[in-house]
Amino acid sequence: MTYLAANQRNEAIQQLQDTQFDLLVIGGGITGAGIALDAASRGMRVALVEKNDFASGTSSKSTKLIHGGLRYLKQMEIKLVREVGTERAIVHQLAPHLVRAEKMLLPLIEGGTYGKTATSLGLMVYDLLAKVLPEDRRRMLTVPETKNAEPLLIREDLKGGGLYAEYRTDDARLTIELIKTAVQYGALPINYVEATDFTYDEQQQVTGILAQDHLDHSTFAIKAHYVVSAAGPWVDELRNINQSLQGKHLFHSKGVHIVVPHDRLPLQQSVYFDIPDGRMLFAIPRNRVTYLGTTDTEYHGNLDRVVASQEDVQYILEGVNSMFPTAKLKEEDVESSWAGLRPLIHEEGKSPSEMSRKDEIFESASGLLSIAGGKLTGYRKMAERIVNLVARKFRQEQQRSFKNCQTAKITLTGGPFDNQIAVFQLEDELAETLETCELGHYHARYLVANYGRQALDFLPHLKKYQQTHTPEVALALAEWEHCVEHEWCFTLLDFFNRRTGRLYFDLPSIDPCRKTITAAFAERFNWSPERQQAEAQALDQAILDCSEFAPASVAADPNSNL
Ligand code: FAD
Repeated sequence: MTYLAANQRNEAIQQLQDTQFDLLVIGGGITGAGIALDAASRGMRVALVEKNDFASGTSSKSTKLIHGGLRYLKQMEIKLVREVGTERAIVHQLAPHLVRAEKMLLPLIEGGTYGKTATSLGLMVYDLLAKVLPEDRRRMLTVPETKNAEPLLIREDLKGGGLYAEYRTDDARLTIELIKTAVQYGALPINYVEATDFTYDEQQQVTGILAQDHLDHSTFAIKAHYVVSAAGPWVDELRNINQSLQGKHLFHSKGVHIVVPHDRLPLQQSVYFDIPDGRMLFAIPRNRVTYLGTTDTEYHGNLDRVVASQEDVQYILEGVNSMFPTAKLKEEDVESSWAGLRPLIHEEGKSPSEMSRKDEIFESASGLLSIAGGKLTGYRKMAERIVNLVARKFRQEQQRSFKNCQTAKITLTGGPFDNQIAVFQLEDELAETLETCELGHYHARYLVANYGRQALDFLPHLKKYQQTHTPEVALALAEWEHCVEHEWCFTLLDFFNRRTGRLYFDLPSIDPCRKTITAAFAERFNWSPERQQAEAQALDQAILDCSEFAPASVAADPNSNL
């Protein structure tokens, strides 16, 4: 039995209570999702609990790049750059609709961080470490070529540029497709179930968790031979509950991105550029918007509600305006934003930007394994490392053996595609069909990027809903139908944020369909008027959080509404 249709949840909860799992994963971000798929595909019986929605933590709030991290090269993190660099092409092949090749332009400015020779050399090393194919390797550009690549770079002090290969993704969708793929291998992941404590045997070894279901408010125990905490920024909270928070600990660094309509910064090319304080920012065009970021500041506030402050927004705007002086972006131009926490391993005396992005595994005396740090891009290797460790324990302690890591060859749900050309072909085919429903190529691109081949399954629903709704609302309903049936989508925010990305990338599209989507949820799940009101409030709060900005002192206040 595979689960992920919303009406199967009770059955899944029962199975969580009735099964002795080989591995229980805490945390449904990219790290936990990657571990669940790795372990399940090796033949382990796996459960995963996520206290909120899948990808609701850092894994929906990154820069959404599958990248080698050029700046880590400057910090001489050669091993990290080599690993995540090579991972890029692998993750792209596993889901080419969702992880798209994207050239990045590094403009060279008089007095900037990198000179021409250093950039050329740096990008060459980057390509070599990441084993980039010859046709995709870096290209150094003259001033006219740089301006041609990105006409908004109208600066007197432009000295040229470097164009190099990266990949762009949607972090939340990538996490969700990993979860769905893990289900195909028999894993049992569940959202809205929190690990509140651990259970122990007489030798004080962890035997599972106590869980709290936040949807039906029940509590129950889940039994597992091994428990891995992949709780991202919350890893130390769980180590504390496990009374094993000693030695190395997490450092939370806040990173903010802002979103402006594409016509306010009509970039034709992703750009990674210097700003006056010596840091670098990304500016990434994405359909109807351009997003910009990020900040990197120490954070001590509420882990469950992280928002961009006025200062964060100003910092990014000033940085962007310094590189693109004609843009003259202002706070009023900011349509949406997100703020996330990097779960870094603390290093004494280093600033947030200097701290390593390496991952680390902690093992407590009671057997709890925790994994923290790392990058979205390196999720597969992080999973491989910790599942190797679990497999070794099975071998040594229980004489059971499992297959080696399989995930480099496991296509994610939404595929398969031979390559990116096949993705574009699907977009064209879908666009033709959508034209008959008064929707265009834009929607085909959006649907294929979000759902891959699964977008084809929407068409019958789309046609049905179009008899009674506008094309855009019918499309939202068709997506909703898919998400509720296949992606354990239970709340308005699950839908508008993690499943469809509308909260960040298409905020104006929410208002015209929110009533209809609420009514559809209410009918399907028998929502009471109180539940409908609570859902509306949660969505309103999330919209406020991402589009209105207060000074840092107010934004950090957990009781503030801004
Ligand atoms: P999370 O995504 O936070 O997942 C942890 C999950 O555990 C959460 O969903 C949480 O709800 C759950 N949880 C916590 N406690 C419990 C509990 N008791 N019971 C059940 N569940 C629990 N990396 C890249 O490769 N490329 C980028 O472009 C990039 N950009 C970034 C930009 C920013 C601003 C930031 C902050 C990070 C960026 N990263 C990037 C890093 C990357 O996003 C993170 O390394 C990654 O998302 C961390 O994933 P995770 O699964 O470990 O943590």
